[in-house]
Amino acid sequence: MLITDEHIEFLKTDNGGYTKKTLLCLGIDWPAIRGWKNNIIGTKMGDDLRGFFKESEDKFNLFRAKRNKPVIKKKRAVRKKKDTYPKRREQVLKDLGLNEYATNAGVCLAIHNKTGWPIPGRKNQYPKFITRYSRQLNRASKLPNRKQRSKVTDFYSSKQWKEARYIVLSKSEGRCQLCGASASDGVQIHVDHIKPRSTHPELELDLDNLGTLCSDCNLGKSNYDDYDYRNKF
Ligand SMILES: [Zn+2]
Repeated sequence: MLITDEHIEFLKTDNGGYTKKTLLCLGIDWPAIRGWKNNIIGTKMGDDLRGFFKESEDKFNLFRAKRNKPVIKKKRAVRKKKDTYPKRREQVLKDLGLNEYATNAGVCLAIHNKTGWPIPGRKNQYPKFITRYSRQLNRASKLPNRKQRSKVTDFYSSKQWKEARYIVLSKSEGRCQLCGASASDGVQIHVDHIKPRSTHPELELDLDNLGTLCSDCNLGKSNYDDYDYRNKF
C-alpha cells in the first residue's frame, strides 16, 4: 500500500497540524523538514500505519468521499431590470407635443431642435438620447432643488432680513397683528410676508409687505393668502 496525499491529510489533527507521533509513524524525523509530504507520497506504508488505516477504513472512506465531492457552484440570481423606457418615452413625447406614433429618430430631431443637442449618429443610440432628455425633464420637475432650498435658509440668516425683522417687530411691540397675542401669552411671534415670497420675491424685504403673526395665526394662514391683517384687532 502506497502513501497518498489523502492518507497524509487524513492524519491531520483538528487544528490542521501533525503530531510528532504521527510523523514518526510516517517515517519522518522530528523536526520535520520542508517538503516532507512530497518526499513520502508514493512510498510504501509502514506496518503500523497500514494497521491504522485498516482499522479506520470506514472513517477514511467517508473522509475521501467528502474530500472528492465535486463543488457545485451556485448560480447567482440575475435580477431582471425593469424596463422603464416606454414610460420615459411617453413623458418625452408629452413634453415635445408629439403623438405616440413618432419614431425615435423623429423624437431625437425634436429634442435636437429644442435643446440644440447633437443628434446621435446611430440608430441604437436613440433610446439613450431620449433617456437623457427624460432625466433632464425629471430633474427640472423636482422643485425646490437643493440650491433653491439653501437660498431659503440664506435669506432668513441674511443681515438685511434680520434688520427688516427687527424694525417690524419693534413697530408692532412684539404683538401678533391679527389677534393681539404677545410672547407673554405663550406664543411665538413670527415676522411674516403678507404677499408670500414664493409669489412675490421682489417684496421680500419691503417693510410694507411685512407683518407680525403669532405662531398659531401663522399656522392658520395659508401660503397663498395675501390678506392684509395688520392692526385688525
Ligand atoms: Zn395671533
